[in-house]
Amino acid sequence: MSIKYVCSECGKKYDPKSLVFRCDCGGLLNLEKFNFTFSKEDILNNEWSLFRYLKALPFDDNFTFWKDITMGEGLTPIVPLEKDNPNLLVKVDYLMPTLSFKDRGAVVLIAKAKELGIKKVIQDSSGNAGTSIAAYANRAGIQCTIYVPENTSSKKIKQITSHGATVNIVKGTREDTAKEALKAVERGDGFYASHVYNPFFYQGTKTYAYEIYEQLNGEVPEALVIPVGNGTLLLGSYYGFKELLALKLIDKIPKIIAVQSKGCAPIYKAFKEGNINVKEVTNTGTLAEGIAIADPKRGKQILEAIKDSNGEIITACENKIIETKVYLSQKGFYVEPTTAATFAGFLDYYKENKLKGKVVVPLCGSGLKSDI
Ligand SMILES: *Cc1c(COP(=O)(O)O)cnc(C)c1O
Ligand SMILES: [Zn+2]
Repeated sequence: MSIKYVCSECGKKYDPKSLVFRCDCGGLLNLEKFNFTFSKEDILNNEWSLFRYLKALPFDDNFTFWKDITMGEGLTPIVPLEKDNPNLLVKVDYLMPTLSFKDRGAVVLIAKAKELGIKKVIQDSSGNAGTSIAAYANRAGIQCTIYVPENTSSKKIKQITSHGATVNIVKGTREDTAKEALKAVERGDGFYASHVYNPFFYQGTKTYAYEIYEQLNGEVPEALVIPVGNGTLLLGSYYGFKELLALKLIDKIPKIIAVQSKGCAPIYKAFKEGNINVKEVTNTGTLAEGIAIADPKRGKQILEAIKDSNGEIITACENKIIETKVYLSQKGFYVEPTTAATFAGFLDYYKENKLKGKVVVPLCGSGLKSDI
């Protein structure tokens, strides 16, 4: 598929083969709209992974490499958290091959990288995205180097290393790590398999919406609660529901309730101040490492998505994270602190804003990944 990247600022188009990751003007690259038809009948019912929505993914019909690398990612359960409230649903997205939802984006991005003939990838992450990229790159026979900040959980680092990737631990903040990875990409060390910059990652995370559509039999939840750091799940879900709407398979999209951590909440700040752009903040510290993104590159797009969905953005208190982790464990779900933070923020909101319809909250990362 000769699908192009298109600059979100100036509209210039690029061939993904050219290995650009950002427009000459500095703008972020999106994926050009590609036409596809999709209906319930197009779901591949015998494919037990997110590739059951293959028709909605940006691959040629005769492209089959995904079969070599899929590990059955996606198709995660949606279940009520407790029997007394059938409307409060959790989607257990840590039930993935590498134990976080990032496998959705990584499998699609790496399949695409293989299609483009890539031999080596570089990525930076606070842990989970790096783990996913490392696992799928290895399966695809692509060399992989992951840059992580020094405070990354030791378990995540072990996980990345065991998937055969080279890990570069960078002193300083998450943003310093991103800068180091960018330098390597600019030196020509490899293809930037970034979950932030590379639009193919979002083609994978959009399956979160397709799954909800299938699993709820076409019923659109009133709200999706979504943690937001770089916005890969938020934007992916938004794109997915917008596509389902354009395909006339649904008649509205769910309200997006985004959650940030109080200690690092640039998108929250911009939203509340009514800005259309997101300014970098200082991370004052949070246990929710997975959403501690002080300078989210797609901040403007995230704000637009929340507003278009008639949504809201909330923050999670640091002192509720541990108790919420315990609360979820007592319901049977063992999650990492970032997921506990998401839930903590949501629970506070839920007490004050009774939502009438269904609300879906993702459990994004497994508790086995954290040192806490
Ligand atoms: C990556 C991640 C997030 C945040 O996702 P973004 O794409 O950065 O918005 C939330 N929770 C967990 C467990 C994650 O791994
Ligand atoms: Zn541009």
